[in-house]
Amino acid sequence: MNGRALIVGGGIAGLAAARGLLDRGWEVEVRERHSGPPDIGGALAMWPPALEALDRLGLGEAVRATGSVPTAARLADPAGRTLARLDSRASIAPIARMVARSALLEVLVGALPGDAVRWNTPVTPEEVTAGVGGFDVIIGADGLNGVVRSGAFPNAPASRGLGAVAYRGAVPGHVATFTETWGNGRIFGVTPMDGRTTNWYAAMRTGLAPDREADPLALLRRLYGGWHADVARVLDALPGTAIDRRTLYDLPAPASYVHGRHVLIGDAAHAMAPNLGRGACESLVDAAALARALGEAPTAARGLARYDRDRRRPAGRIVRASRAMNRISTATRLTGLRDGTLRTAGALLG
Ligand SMILES: Cc1cc2nc3c(=O)[nH]c(=O)nc-3n(C[C@H](O)[C@H](O)[C@H](O)COP(=O)(O)OP(=O)(O)OC[C@H]3O[C@@H](n4cnc5c(N)ncnc54)[C@H](O)[C@@H]3O)c2cc1C
Repeated sequence: MNGRALIVGGGIAGLAAARGLLDRGWEVEVRERHSGPPDIGGALAMWPPALEALDRLGLGEAVRATGSVPTAARLADPAGRTLARLDSRASIAPIARMVARSALLEVLVGALPGDAVRWNTPVTPEEVTAGVGGFDVIIGADGLNGVVRSGAFPNAPASRGLGAVAYRGAVPGHVATFTETWGNGRIFGVTPMDGRTTNWYAAMRTGLAPDREADPLALLRRLYGGWHADVARVLDALPGTAIDRRTLYDLPAPASYVHGRHVLIGDAAHAMAPNLGRGACESLVDAAALARALGEAPTAARGLARYDRDRRRPAGRIVRASRAMNRISTATRLTGLRDGTLRTAGALLG
């Protein structure tokens, strides 16, 4: 079938869903509260299922033309000793393509007609509860703590703190390898981004990063000073660059991603710990799955039911796995045992 969809939120999930539905003959209106898509620097790991979803949206080639695949992925300890390593040519496991978030969003915005997105147009909680008229489907792509989930899914579980904080940004200069370093209660990641820029992120238990520490540079130097050369190079390049900070939460799955004509996609459905680099990937998979389900079903209700069946369980599993990885990577106890186990596993795999 085709019909009319209101998409609340012009982030990765909302823009991708708009493209998919337009391809299926639907009319779409995206309402985004800000004047443009989210303006967060740094890169996103794009795993094969996300690239396949982008292919289904006709955007895979455009995204593959940006970013780069690391030559290797390395897990290290703060002294720089390798705990585990995958080589992109030798490994049977795929290594994610690193894509600048801004480049992905540019592709998504560029794939829509100019009038598909109404920027500076917030949807209010009252509009959600009263019901916006004239649409067959209302898609909540409004991220963590969005109004569609809180207004139309009153029994959906609330967000859960992960007890961790993340900082991220980019610095000039290229690295070829993806390196994540695990210390006591904290991690630091350094990855390629676009051939000219290095993407970095840091995450730590909340107790290590009190709110009152206003200067992120001082905090990062205090927590990661003395770590190996890849980390030290990033710390030296940080002055004058933008640093994004956020407290981390995830969202347990509601009983259904669908309520009446409302449906949740992306972080609004399944915000997750960033440790597996899957939140945006799953948002793209949602968008392609929803467009296919709505396009192929005889009624919107049947299409929404199919989307829920296809996506809620797999996405829930990734939320749980990401939470577990967040706990293990930022553990404050038994880190010697953790690292020894990783070293043994890495040696067996390599
Ligand atoms: C530190 C960190 C690192 C990450 N790294 C990766 C990674 O490597 N790979 C990966 O796949 N994922 C990663 N993620 C996750 C990824 O950022 C998110 O999963 C993804 O951005 C979710 O997209 P979204 O469109 O669902 O939500 P959002 O990006 O939150 O977009 C929601 C949009 O809705 C708009 N909005 C909200 N309320 C309203 C309203 N009432 N009316 C109108 N508009 C509204 C917002 O302004 C926003 O533009 C990371 C996350 C973090 C925190």
